[in-house]
Amino acid sequence: MIITGGELLVEFVSHAPGCGLARTVAFSGPYPSGAPAIFADQAARVGAEVQLFGCVGRDPFGDLLIDRLRPDGVDVRQVARSTGKTTGTAFVSYHPDGSRVFVFHLDGTAADQIEAVPVIMPGALFHVSGASLGNPHLRAVILEAVDQARSVGRVSYDPNIRPELMQDPLIRPYIDQIVAASDILLPSQEDLEALYPGTTPEAFIRDMLGAGKKVVVVKRGAMGAIGSNGGPLITVPPLLVDEVDPTGAGDCFCGTLLGLLDQGRDFEYALRAANVAGALHVTRRGPMEWNPTLNDIRPYLEPAGV
Ligand code: ATP
Ligand code: MG
Repeated sequence: MIITGGELLVEFVSHAPGCGLARTVAFSGPYPSGAPAIFADQAARVGAEVQLFGCVGRDPFGDLLIDRLRPDGVDVRQVARSTGKTTGTAFVSYHPDGSRVFVFHLDGTAADQIEAVPVIMPGALFHVSGASLGNPHLRAVILEAVDQARSVGRVSYDPNIRPELMQDPLIRPYIDQIVAASDILLPSQEDLEALYPGTTPEAFIRDMLGAGKKVVVVKRGAMGAIGSNGGPLITVPPLLVDEVDPTGAGDCFCGTLLGLLDQGRDFEYALRAANVAGALHVTRRGPMEWNPTLNDIRPYLEPAGV
């Protein structure tokens, strides 16, 4: 079983590349979002048993999130509904070079009103989506869950560094603490550059496996992915797609990879499937509007003979 938690949000995506969120333009949304929600939804869609904890408002945005996650198979019994606070929101705009600007409304919304950490069941995998660490309350909750999980189960960590959510300079020690507690590390290449400047994905994977990690994968956006579970280093070339909206690809990748590993699938198969899922994900607007099932993924795996 996989457990994850943190900020649940709805997201609005700008239609005007380069608007920078400082001009009045057309948007699409609300879309269900929040990295833990995207991850949980995708892991459920590839068949894993997934429990999500978080908090949404008693408002239409909260309904939107629950009404997407529950039918997709996510156990949302630990998603609380706040009566006094509205659901968190995020706005995103892309620059023509693919970089993006976010405005988050998370602090003080329902998103950070999680009251208690659920009991981590023995043997469970607790997945940390690092963007949650920018909020002091969510950080405390996540650290408590990591503490529980490292003694009874396993911990995976996707740093998901978002500068807008990581203003606090004191955050680094928490990141290092979670890296140390993790069995599985799933950074993007951008995360690596932010956290370990000058290191290469190959060196990072080798060093972390040497330090006892069980699975280490680096997500490389339009360059595919690279990783190892202690066996040979596997480099997966990207699927060639037209990128429309990259947000959430990393969470979709991690949900696929861990969802399949948790069901006992072979590492190389899970890695290749995750690479396909991430690529399909970026072809539609919205952070979790294209979370593919295994039936959607399989046709793209066959040419590689997996
Ligand atoms: P986010 O934090 O926005 O969710 P990320 O930076 O963590 O994303 P990426 O590396 O952008 O993660 O994407 C995850 C995976 O999805 C990549 O490793 C790759 O397999 C696939 N992918 C993403 N973008 C593309 C693309 N343009 N073309 C092909 N595959 C892609
Ligand atoms: Mg990411």
